[in-house]
Amino acid sequence: MLVLGLESSCDETGLALYDTERGLLAHALHSQIAMHREYGGVVPELASRDHIRRALPLLEQVLDQSNRALADVDAIAFTQGPGLAGALLVGASIANGLALALRKPVIGIHHLEGHLLSPLLVDAPPAFPFVALLVSGGHTQLMRVTDVGQYETLGETLDDAAGEAFDKTAKLLGLGYPGGPEVSRLAEFGTPGAVVLPRPMLHSGDLDFSFSGLKTAVLTAVRKLGANVCEQDKADIARGFVDAAVDVLAAKAIAALKQTRLKRLVVAGGVGANRQLREALNAAAKRRGFAVHYPDLALCTDNGAMIALAGALRLARWPEQAQHAYAFTVKPRWDLSTLATQ
Ligand code: ATP
Ligand code: MG
Ligand code: FE
Repeated sequence: MLVLGLESSCDETGLALYDTERGLLAHALHSQIAMHREYGGVVPELASRDHIRRALPLLEQVLDQSNRALADVDAIAFTQGPGLAGALLVGASIANGLALALRKPVIGIHHLEGHLLSPLLVDAPPAFPFVALLVSGGHTQLMRVTDVGQYETLGETLDDAAGEAFDKTAKLLGLGYPGGPEVSRLAEFGTPGAVVLPRPMLHSGDLDFSFSGLKTAVLTAVRKLGANVCEQDKADIARGFVDAAVDVLAAKAIAALKQTRLKRLVVAGGVGANRQLREALNAAAKRRGFAVHYPDLALCTDNGAMIALAGALRLARWPEQAQHAYAFTVKPRWDLSTLATQ
């Protein structure tokens, strides 16, 4: 079965073709980061309009790359939520319009289910069950993943997401948007221990997180230096922030493995691309004898491939989830643990 995936929940337009026999055939992405940069964050109306402009050229691109025609597509998977309502509506309309024209079924996918399953898009995918550390721009959660559609939240952030904390720290340090990669790079030049920031909820005894205090600690450190702040100071603060964030994420992921007695950890979402986090988790995995899996770097942040994969896996298990009515809704707010499996 050939599944076309379409992601448009925020500021990336992603298209992909996934073949259930051969795997991922092609994926193409347009990131709106440059467009939103001057505003310091995503402007929803601009995002919606840009998805309209980009989707069909990207579709042609993936068809060309995989040497397939639109008529070869057997089903279309699109991101139904959560995300920006206007941006989701663009993707939902395009997916349903194409499906109607082709008389093929559509399936609406939960964006976070896409992220959760993205580490399966590798040559040697991890087997179920596993613990997933989902660290993205809007979410920070530890999940027990028993099978496709069976997700239990073990813990989550009480305030900011990890990616959000990276982005806000970048802003405070005068770096660009999105901040994750830039804070990570600058931290490499920081002196370990020069700036020590709090590790919120490290010893809370549960699997929840909190990042807003860490962000405030960065603000306080920046203010303390005032106008005298130099490049080395900024690097030291970035280092202090990354060390604190990574410490908490790694410790809670390890605690989740202990609690569930599972031996496999899967990391997904944009912050899963972070070098320091990967190094810390790889070292812990070696030391403690668990396996850790990541998506390809390019598939950590939003993409169409993870949506196509989630659609293919769902349709294989639950063919009745295929929709033929072409009457669609989007779900800008949608809790992953409420996902129906049947
Ligand atoms: P959600 O999936 O929760 O709706 P999102 O789709 O915006 O949010 P993603 O695309 O998964 O989130 O990830 C984007 C986030 O990942 C941003 O906050 C970005 O700063 C962060 N990020 C990307 N690369 C890195 C990196 N190398 N280190 C740390 N953070 C990173
Ligand atoms: Mg994004
Ligand atoms: Fe995302």
